[in-house]
Amino acid sequence: MQKLVELLRILRPAERRRFWLILAGITLVALGDVAGVASVIPFLGIVVNPASASKFWGVTELRTMTGIVDDRSFIIFVGIASMLIITTSNLLNAWVTAAQIRLANAIGVSLGRRLLSAYATQDQVTLLGRNSSELGKNILSEVDRTIVGVLVPAMTVISRAVAAGGIILFLVLIDPVIALSLAAIFGGIYIAVYFIAQRWLANIGMSAIDANKERFRIVNETFGALRELRLYGRVDAFVSRFDEPARVYSETTATSLIVGQIPRFVLEPLAFASIVFLVVHSIMTGGNPASVIPMAGMFAFAGYRLLPSLQHVFSGFASVRFYAPALATILQTLRSEKAVPAERASVAPAAPRFSRKLEFKKVGFSYPERPNVLVDINLSIAAETTVGLIGRTGSGKTTLISLLLGLLHPASGTILVDGVPLTGERLIAWQRKLGYVPQDVFLIDGSIAANIALGLFDDEINLAAVEKAARLANVHDFIANLPAGYKTVVGERGARLSGGQRQRIGIARALYHDPEVIVLDEATSGLDSETEQTFLQAIDQLAGQRTLIVVAHRPTTLRRADVVHMIDGGRIVASGSLEAVMPSIDSDRRLPLGSAAV
Ligand code: ATP
Ligand code: MG
Repeated sequence: MQKLVELLRILRPAERRRFWLILAGITLVALGDVAGVASVIPFLGIVVNPASASKFWGVTELRTMTGIVDDRSFIIFVGIASMLIITTSNLLNAWVTAAQIRLANAIGVSLGRRLLSAYATQDQVTLLGRNSSELGKNILSEVDRTIVGVLVPAMTVISRAVAAGGIILFLVLIDPVIALSLAAIFGGIYIAVYFIAQRWLANIGMSAIDANKERFRIVNETFGALRELRLYGRVDAFVSRFDEPARVYSETTATSLIVGQIPRFVLEPLAFASIVFLVVHSIMTGGNPASVIPMAGMFAFAGYRLLPSLQHVFSGFASVRFYAPALATILQTLRSEKAVPAERASVAPAAPRFSRKLEFKKVGFSYPERPNVLVDINLSIAAETTVGLIGRTGSGKTTLISLLLGLLHPASGTILVDGVPLTGERLIAWQRKLGYVPQDVFLIDGSIAANIALGLFDDEINLAAVEKAARLANVHDFIANLPAGYKTVVGERGARLSGGQRQRIGIARALYHDPEVIVLDEATSGLDSETEQTFLQAIDQLAGQRTLIVVAHRPTTLRRADVVHMIDGGRIVASGSLEAVMPSIDSDRRLPLGSAAV
């Protein structure tokens, strides 16, 4: 209940307004339903005995008002009127039901979109700790489960509860004793079953969400590791891991549906038996069958409407209980959703050129559960110079780069650009000056042009800039020789390209928006020395106007650097020219000794 209220609270105002409107519609329809049931009763009554009209509220008045004298005509009139009420109420019902389904699914679209954007703008630290297939699952699967399992049933519960209440009230007006005892028996059975089942439903709901997570993870990992799995003949073994979570997921879902449906099959015969009992009892005690029939018919018809309503309320509650963990997952993220994520494009590009220096002052950084990855980093990078970072694997180079890019934030110390701390607007302005080639370039399954101008719509791509960047990255000739040129689609993660081609497209991507500062994290490691040198030469032509920060394992890559910093164990252990830093590299067995002579 609490979670449902919270769900309502996080909806967009327009959605919430529509929700209340539809809820009002649902209630109206439920009352119309009751009116439909109510109108059949006097009809049955006067069919059996026209004189009994006075027993029913409003019927005598209706007769005087219409001025119909003939009994037959009046019966026909009441019959048609009752039919009209039922038809209208059902048509209205159809319309409101459609609106309700539409709204629920529209809310699904917006929740999914909001989750995606919340995850994507989360601090990198938190994101890195979580499995991306789990986030994907939340966006794609848990949102759907929430809509189908929580939102729609909750709305149904409300409408059906109103209808059931109305019908019970109406029956009470006719015969309080019978009506209340029937309501108590049927309602009581549902309530009892619900209280017995609810804990269990909540538990299997938790198992279902865990199993769902596993399913998504295994699917993702199977495709991610496909080459190795096939090579080692372990596809079958790996795929069989899917069985258990998939079984748990389907069985828990099936169980929740069964629990929601079963009481119906017990209660329907019971209801029928009650009516038979009512008729038999009244005849045995000397009642006139003719007078019992309308009453029995009334209860039969009312029950025919009442029982499904109670059933819907029950199965709705059961469903909400089972799917509540899915809703909880969504709420957990959207509860702390930032107002509107700062949109890069909307920030004024008027930031001054990076002209003096980038400074790290006593910067320290820790990952969750991995303290002191960087300790006391003091670093000064002058604008328009080329700076190398070298150090053994795991020493903290990529982490330092991430801080410099503003993707991670220092735990202690400050980073200054031209004397101004890197925070807020300033950080965003700084990031717009950067071109970055990560250690492993991620290509999207789109055209080469779309990969170089990543994130832009086709009509926004500046093809001249794409080609210029590709030339600098030394990949233009390769692309120009492809049958579809820049329109060639590269496949998932660039599967149709070689490692070096992927890397060069990554480089072109970093150069596309003509950055002032270019950051290369092992960006040329996948290229042969010759290609690497051609590329570095091309970048050199830009040097003097650009600041270049290069992370490398190979000293040859850093041949052109003005300054080289050597990182070890999260600290800067040496700085200076490549030759000055080299001796300390000689003892590092990971770096080929031969290359140190360069
Ligand atoms: P390489 O040359 O292999 O790329 P690197 O110098 O770039 O290494 P980093 O990626 O900066 O090294 O990692 C520094 C240390 O921080 C490593 O010990 C690594 O295990 C750890 N580390 C990196 N990323 C995370 C993370 N998201 N969570 C926890 N620890 C991390
Ligand atoms: Mg690295």
